[in-house]
Amino acid sequence: MKTEKYCLGIESTAHTYGVSVVTFDGKILSDEKSIYKPPLGKGIHPRESAQHHATIAPTILREALKKANIQAKDISIVAFSQGPGLGPCLRTGATTARTIASYLNIPLIPVHHAIGHIELAILTTKAKDPLVVLVSGGHTCVVAFAGGRWRVFGETEDITLGNLLDSYGREAGLPTPSGPTVEVDAEKGKKFVDLPLTIKGNNVSYSGLLTAVINKLKEGKWRREDLSYSLQEVAFTALAETAERILAFTEKKELLLAGGVATNRRLQSMLKTIAKEHNAKFYVVPKEYSGDCGAQIAWTGILAYTHGVEISIEKSIVKPRWRLDRVPIPWRKG
Ligand code: AMP
Ligand code: MG
Repeated sequence: MKTEKYCLGIESTAHTYGVSVVTFDGKILSDEKSIYKPPLGKGIHPRESAQHHATIAPTILREALKKANIQAKDISIVAFSQGPGLGPCLRTGATTARTIASYLNIPLIPVHHAIGHIELAILTTKAKDPLVVLVSGGHTCVVAFAGGRWRVFGETEDITLGNLLDSYGREAGLPTPSGPTVEVDAEKGKKFVDLPLTIKGNNVSYSGLLTAVINKLKEGKWRREDLSYSLQEVAFTALAETAERILAFTEKKELLLAGGVATNRRLQSMLKTIAKEHNAKFYVVPKEYSGDCGAQIAWTGILAYTHGVEISIEKSIVKPRWRLDRVPIPWRKG
């Protein structure tokens, strides 16, 4: 008989439908996912993505249980991404989680998706009290823990870094999500093309940069590789500059890079340099846990549940808009 406690985590905020089984002491037993791919040149269509999630959900759930070598009745709690994200996508994950919770009569735990990215990055890197640079499709912010919450010291004023790279990639004819191919393209770039870098206080702003690079793409006077290279340089420099200011201000001794864009080697190298200059230890979330996945929800669900967080099915309505600094974090001190 299995005596260990398991959390089943379900992620469904945007393009990824992920299911993971994690033990209460933090072992990730399985982390299965399927990613909705829009047609070339198109972004995520919320209803199409939700349809993908609804279709794939039973298969991914079965695979996650099989890989973890447990049965549904062994699950102790079920956690789901309550937000923020695309409404139709969030609802598919929430519906599955509610069904499992009520069928097995086990606790249902709501998880904030971005807190999930941060907690999984901390679990897998063993950072303790980091300044976190969270860069993904849905978030671009620099946060540190203080007074019971993750506080936002800097963020994007408009689009996220992932969104900037994906939107540019779409215009440039690269597949979505485009971050990885823009990175490869940028490595072939040689000539720096002047593009606008915008920092406001400790915030970055990327929408003007996106317009400028798309205009240059359409003018056809520059090589795409040079534009990809210049775009990365300008976007990452802006973020690194704000991260450095915040690192100097907060005097944190750890800098942690998390979220899907964290796998970018150029961004890693810029932030590593900054951490070194401020005598801070530099951590990057492992590639397999950088993008959206069930494990971020399962692990954060365990932290939340073991500190008294639970939600009734009636109240488990999804939150497409939900700031991470609104979420009380009872499991961290500081
Ligand atoms: P997430 O929302 O955490 O799943 O992250 C997805 C985002 O990460 C998308 O915008 C991707 O384009 C981006 N991304 C993934 N790999 C890379 C990479 N190597 N360089 C830049 N961005 C990336
Ligand atoms: Mg994400």
